[in-house]
Amino acid sequence: MNTAEISNPYGQPMLSPSYDPWDPITSLKKHGRHLLTSVELTVSNLCNMRCEHCAVGDTLVFAEPPKLPLETILKRLDEVEHLQTISITGGEPTFSGTTVKDYIIPLLKYARGRGIRSQINSNVTLDYSRYEAIAPYLDVMHISFNYTSADDFHGIGFAKSGHPVPREAAVRMYDRMIENTRLLSKGGLLVSAESMINYRTHEKITDIHRLIVEMGCSRHEVHPMYPSAFAEDLPVIGKAEMRAAVRSLLDERDPSVWMLFGTLPFFHCSEEESDRKLLSRLAAEPNVTVRNDPDGRNRLNVNMFTGDVFVTDFSNVPAFGNIGGDRLDDLFQRWLGHPLARSVDCHCPAVGCCGPNLLVKDMYYRDVDFLDRKAIL
Ligand code: SF4
Repeated sequence: MNTAEISNPYGQPMLSPSYDPWDPITSLKKHGRHLLTSVELTVSNLCNMRCEHCAVGDTLVFAEPPKLPLETILKRLDEVEHLQTISITGGEPTFSGTTVKDYIIPLLKYARGRGIRSQINSNVTLDYSRYEAIAPYLDVMHISFNYTSADDFHGIGFAKSGHPVPREAAVRMYDRMIENTRLLSKGGLLVSAESMINYRTHEKITDIHRLIVEMGCSRHEVHPMYPSAFAEDLPVIGKAEMRAAVRSLLDERDPSVWMLFGTLPFFHCSEEESDRKLLSRLAAEPNVTVRNDPDGRNRLNVNMFTGDVFVTDFSNVPAFGNIGGDRLDDLFQRWLGHPLARSVDCHCPAVGCCGPNLLVKDMYYRDVDFLDRKAIL
């Protein structure tokens, strides 16, 4: 393989199934311990949608207070010694043009200048000019896609709006989202479409995959849905249905598109052979990766309005510090000593696993001591 094949125009390795700096196993392997390599920034609590499953739905507002000065967060990012990635999230981060101009573009330029990678989590339903303005500085445009039609989008995307949203308005947004995704992908941006496996999608996940491929996305990211605070009333599906959904994706996927699975509730230390078999199949499939969970392992979330620092943007775990008074590396060390962090701090190098997500442990493995377990080889 020559350098052109493995480098982007900035001389950095291409993001690919063999190079995913968001995966905490990358830094764990390199440094032999967990380090803060990733910072997620919540830059907006505004959104034009009210999705049924939205993990941060309870924080969405119609008007928001001023954010901390950009210099404050840049100074704190500068202090993060091993920073490799930033993620910008909301709400819809691009909802306000001022936020795009005064925060998002400067943050992305900072990342480029420092040689680190960036991601934005967006619904891409707004005017294309907004996304066109940020695309030149961005590495990954991460979108949600859980639909097989505009009617799915209408039903899911406005489920929590509290008032009826006309179907025609939803159809216009759905069409714009598809067109924006096509244009961004065509322009060379890595658009990663995330789908959740949940009660609505588990039987049509391969149809969703097909539409994602048709939009030109380079990556399809798949996570089971867990009941975060705002979505806790949604029906939950069992592990058997999740396994079936993952298997059908593997059977019917387009093998040219990178498939990234995350927050799976399956582990190599499981006594259930079907879990271990599925993981072995995932590991053997070309162009398929299973990302370890970054939340609290190599990543923290910073709220740009308050400076509060969380383990994730939707966690029930309260803030454990504030960038007003503490360095992010110090806060990360504090988090690693937290009993919750310690309860999932296992590592089996032979299978490249560094433990479960906290929500997964809480939902399926409440009584399991992962520190007592080992991968069954
Ligand atoms: S790292 Fe933890 S969760 Fe993963 S296989 Fe080992 S014991 Fe199980």
